[in-house]
Amino acid sequence: MKYEDFFAGKIDELKSEGRYRHFADLERQAGRFPKATYHDGQKTREITVWCSNDYLGMGQNPVVLEAMQEAVRKCGAGAGGTRNISGTNHYHVLLEEELADLHGTESALLFGSGWVANMTALSTLGRMIPDCVVLSDALNHNSMVEGIVHSKAEKKIFKHNDVEDLENLLRTYDKDRPKLIAFESVYSMDGDIAPIKEFCDLADQYNAMTFLDEVHAVGLYGQHGGGVAERENLMDRITIIQGTLAKAFGVVGGYIAGSAAMCDFVRSYGSGFIFSTSPPPSVAAAALASVRHLKKHNEIRECHQERAATLKQKLRNADIPVMPSVSHIVPVLVGDPVLCKQASDDLMDRFDIYVQPINYPTVPRGEERLRFTPTPLHTDEDIDHLIESIKDVWQRLNIKAAA
Ligand SMILES: *Cc1c(COP(=O)(O)O)cnc(C)c1O
Repeated sequence: MKYEDFFAGKIDELKSEGRYRHFADLERQAGRFPKATYHDGQKTREITVWCSNDYLGMGQNPVVLEAMQEAVRKCGAGAGGTRNISGTNHYHVLLEEELADLHGTESALLFGSGWVANMTALSTLGRMIPDCVVLSDALNHNSMVEGIVHSKAEKKIFKHNDVEDLENLLRTYDKDRPKLIAFESVYSMDGDIAPIKEFCDLADQYNAMTFLDEVHAVGLYGQHGGGVAERENLMDRITIIQGTLAKAFGVVGGYIAGSAAMCDFVRSYGSGFIFSTSPPPSVAAAALASVRHLKKHNEIRECHQERAATLKQKLRNADIPVMPSVSHIVPVLVGDPVLCKQASDDLMDRFDIYVQPINYPTVPRGEERLRFTPTPLHTDEDIDHLIESIKDVWQRLNIKAAA
């Protein structure tokens, strides 16, 4: 085989389908978010970021930066090992305690990322629990899908957020057979929210465990930022809550929270936990400061929701087809991969607005979109500039207005 030709050929396939990914070369400026410096070939210019998952700007919050710097001064750069072999730093311990407290659980377990947390927890549970069936929402994130597939457990997919379809599947299994229902709270491409209570009721009725990915909700919902399950008073009904420290908390890392026995089980059998060096102490310290800060500052969440509602309303007023979303995610439908990329390029080149096009396979073909994530740091002027720019681009490219 001509290896190089093979690689190049696979890349050409993506390019011909308009699915090749170009990364925007950005330099974030601490204290200037959502502004950032864009490296455009030889030149640089300031742009406004409209698609970051640093939903609250915590990645630049002085409280978080100070905690991170202090930990670097005290503990240095790396953790120095896996958790078992000299790599458990006191900041890891404090962070896990804080996360358990956030979710009202006995324990929490820290991973290098949210992706690894899902992959490791689901593959370990599915593999080790005898004869386990995993029931998985059709739109679950890649990290959950990979974890379930890797577990080699029997897997059934239920229609997205569909209580009836899930029940129809559950009732085909013996009551005593172990079952795990895996789903997310906020789905990050549409901004819709799962019927968590109804799923928990089914779990009780059919003797199943629940695994809830709150990655796009922790820090953002609930009085203390415990997620949608906190907002809806359901935290004690979830078997495993999974979250990230990389989105609303603005740092990096992932975790699960639940009973002491369950966390100890994954700690003791999960390869993605056991065999990987633990995150730097400074990362744990920064995440700890961020979680603590957001616990106390519900007004940041209120401001975030207000910004999202304002942007949605202004888009609707301008006849821009904002998709239905009950969360902070603001998706705008384009419905064509080439137009979607052009709209994104045009916003960047002519208006210094950065929003990444979202194409297949992240969303179904025909549902290509721009996905805006307003933060408390986006001003009224930022929003008005965005609206005027979108109107211009939509007209210029002749993209469909809202029906
Ligand atoms: C981003 C994401 C993850 C992975 O989290 P990271 O911390 O970025 O690895 C998991 N689940 C969902 C739903 C996500 O969107």
